[in-house]
Amino acid sequence: MREPRVGVYPGTFDPLTNGHLDIIERATHVVDRLIIGVAANPGKDPLFPLDERVEMLKEQIALMSRGNGRYVEVRAFDNLLMNFVTGCGATIILRGLRAVSDFEYEFQMAAMNARLNDDIETVFLMASERQQFIASRFVKEIARLGGDISSFVPRQVHDRTLQRLGLRVPKLATVGT
Ligand code: ADP
Repeated sequence: MREPRVGVYPGTFDPLTNGHLDIIERATHVVDRLIIGVAANPGKDPLFPLDERVEMLKEQIALMSRGNGRYVEVRAFDNLLMNFVTGCGATIILRGLRAVSDFEYEFQMAAMNARLNDDIETVFLMASERQQFIASRFVKEIARLGGDISSFVPRQVHDRTLQRLGLRVPKLATVGT
């Protein structure tokens, strides 16, 4: 019997979007165990503190069919990604690819990581057409300017984002998950 394949899906998740969730769902079919690595990333000046980004992921993972801790786990990290990955006993890094705009950055990162440790493979996944264009950066911008973000993020994330921005959370908003 082969060893279980462990993968890490790293990101800032500031906040978690339906695009991330799409990638997570796909990733669970690629690896036997998935560890979602939430990068502290203070350099990106995140809107949400690290523990809240972790909490939002845990909330949504619990709703997934393979969301129990056996298959999918959420961990925060603030060290070098490659060290985090090997510390998790993983051999695969999963990343999502949106349009061409992501490609150059992701390509460079994958190549540098391969140089750091050639035993770890980076695998790219594409979200469905509907979720592909979603980016946390725009979600925050749209919310800040009073736009409706309910089709881009799960309900809990929608409410938390408005709260964090000091905006009123509509009581009966019809939002998707
Ligand atoms: P980072 O700061 O590491 O880029 P993000 O949370 O922005 O963290 O993204 C984490 C990963 O998820 C990246 O590989 C990114 O390309 C991917 N991703 C984010 N949104 C989407 C989406 N809508 N479709 C596909 N991949 C996505």
